[in-house]
Amino acid sequence: KRLEELNVEDTTCGYCAVGCRFDLYSDGEEILAARPTAEEDAPVNGISTCVKGKFSYDFVNSDDRLTSPLVRDENGAFREATWDEALSRVAEGLGAIKDEHGGEALSVIASSKATNEDNYLMGKFARQVLGTNSVDNCNRLCHSSTVAGLARTYGYGAASITTEDLELADCILLTGSNTTEAHPVLATRIKQNVRDGADLLVFDPREVQIAEYATQYSRVKPGYDAVWINGITRYIVNNDLHDESFVAERTTGFEDVKEAVQEFTPERVEEVTGVPPEEIAAAAETVAAADACVFGWTLGLTEHSHGTENVMAMANLAAITGNLGKPGAGVSPFRGQNNVQGGGGDMGPLPDNFPGYQDIADDEIRAKFEDAWDCDISPEYGYYTTQMFLAADDDDVRGMYIIGENAALSEPGVNHAEDVLRDLEFLVVQDLFVNETAQYADVVLPACSFVEKTGTFTNTDRTVQMVKQVMEPKGDSRPDWKILQDLANRMGREWDYDSSAEIMEEVSSLTPLYGGVSHERVDGEGGLQWPCWDEDHPGTERLYTEAFNTENGKADLQAVGYSEPAEIPDERYPFTLTTGRVLYQYHTGTMTNREAGIRQYSPNNFVEIHPETAAELGVESGELVTIESRNGEIAVPAQVTDRVGPENLFVPIHFADSAVNRLTDEEHLDPAAATPEFKVSAVRVRPY
Ligand code: SF4
Repeated sequence: KRLEELNVEDTTCGYCAVGCRFDLYSDGEEILAARPTAEEDAPVNGISTCVKGKFSYDFVNSDDRLTSPLVRDENGAFREATWDEALSRVAEGLGAIKDEHGGEALSVIASSKATNEDNYLMGKFARQVLGTNSVDNCNRLCHSSTVAGLARTYGYGAASITTEDLELADCILLTGSNTTEAHPVLATRIKQNVRDGADLLVFDPREVQIAEYATQYSRVKPGYDAVWINGITRYIVNNDLHDESFVAERTTGFEDVKEAVQEFTPERVEEVTGVPPEEIAAAAETVAAADACVFGWTLGLTEHSHGTENVMAMANLAAITGNLGKPGAGVSPFRGQNNVQGGGGDMGPLPDNFPGYQDIADDEIRAKFEDAWDCDISPEYGYYTTQMFLAADDDDVRGMYIIGENAALSEPGVNHAEDVLRDLEFLVVQDLFVNETAQYADVVLPACSFVEKTGTFTNTDRTVQMVKQVMEPKGDSRPDWKILQDLANRMGREWDYDSSAEIMEEVSSLTPLYGGVSHERVDGEGGLQWPCWDEDHPGTERLYTEAFNTENGKADLQAVGYSEPAEIPDERYPFTLTTGRVLYQYHTGTMTNREAGIRQYSPNNFVEIHPETAAELGVESGELVTIESRNGEIAVPAQVTDRVGPENLFVPIHFADSAVNRLTDEEHLDPAAATPEFKVSAVRVRPY
């Protein structure tokens, strides 16, 4: 068929949080084409889409798609069921635990792949219908330490920049970010800026592809990021290269930070991180000389047992160099899943916050939601996702409702997670597929993908954008919000939403950050960046142009001392394993591993091993090796490369048959954010 004969809708990508917009073409049965939206209408992508946004839609029509609810029969096997039967079973199963043990014995894991409207209702369902504050999402596994660290320092736990700043910066300092593979369109914008003369500094344990464009690449030992960051800060303040007027007028805590960084001498930084003094000095000089610098990071900075400290150290550096609130400058945590900023945080499926980061312990705020939702809400914070799995060991969590999250692969220490899922009294999974988590469910509910429903996503630079239905839901699948509404009403409520637009009206009425957000405006204006206080507010491109979101309006700099990873390599486990992503895949692979085109380029898992290590083991690329940690072991083919250092290994997160989280640890959590230490596991390796 010709394009003109197809249904077309302009929508937002459902893969990563860059939030590219494109026109999707469908014949009503499948997605046949994707074309990037014109730059003037879609400033976020501006250039192109990546391979996933352009080609990865086979999953929608995969034979594996769930097209009706599943329930367990008397023999424990799944059988198809009507919605009526399945939802009744869910209402009974969750209701029975609530009646016997209280709502706190239940938990909900919300979905950063789902829309803002879906996620708002997931939080409301947990608190109003189930009576629990234990509602969380995948943000806990990735950037929750970013949110904690930035919120503590500046007030908002989000990117301060607008995406365009990546092209306006004179200097970009990137760390823990395989930008080319994880955020391809942002990488394209950064590379373009470098070609135009900007400096790019890359600090990373792996020599990732974007390092080829770097003015300076420094290999760092995993687990000690605050050390080299503090080393740069020390060089800058000791040489009076900081922005004195910005520090004096717009920050507090500078003297404490200056004192705290003194222990990070060039010699100590080199000893701990492997970065030589001249590289610290060169990076410090480059950052200080730039008129505008963006500090970008991904999970290499955050997925640590001290990720919040790493982020605060970076926030200090950005503030003392005056790189906030002006074009081309700021902090930019690149968010992972398509809607982890909006659905995972802004909409409040969080154990400690209502939508818009409103604290549930604040009496006035809690009263506002109790009134709006007609229910009592406990002021006690619930469990974070990682804590839910530990609490289940003590029967403090007995039932879970997991939506669009594949916890059996994504949680740290999945051997433990599997035991928990198996032993729960009741487990509901809502997804597109019978994924690894659903294997343990009592009931599986079929949800829609982003091409089959309407709502909004919020991308990594806080832009709320429209998601539009291009195709009818596959089989008997339903949008998440409709499933939640039906279930809430079976459990004694009277929800009556006719559309996701109506849900957004409720969000904006309760959430000052989204006060001026409506579907009509988002659609008409091509996106709105929060904060957007009211219907006349234009949205906010850059944060902190005038004041920080703190009581006194100043950045509250935080002194950060020395920390080390929970697991230090030793004689038994001499290597450090890090985990991460590859270009063609997406998270636990539930969608991308069902794409024929993707499987062609990324069919199997692998471990990157340095040539010296491979020679010592006597293995070559393609040969199987066994990797073992204190938590488990996996066998994967070796990929011999000097992209990693001699003491490091790297394994992607996308493959169930050799799930790397069998090696990570469920108890090594950041004390402030409960983020797991995915980036440092002590392991040993041997030929298979
Ligand atoms: Fe989608 Fe991210 Fe690729 Fe853009 S860069 S097309 S948002 S996966």
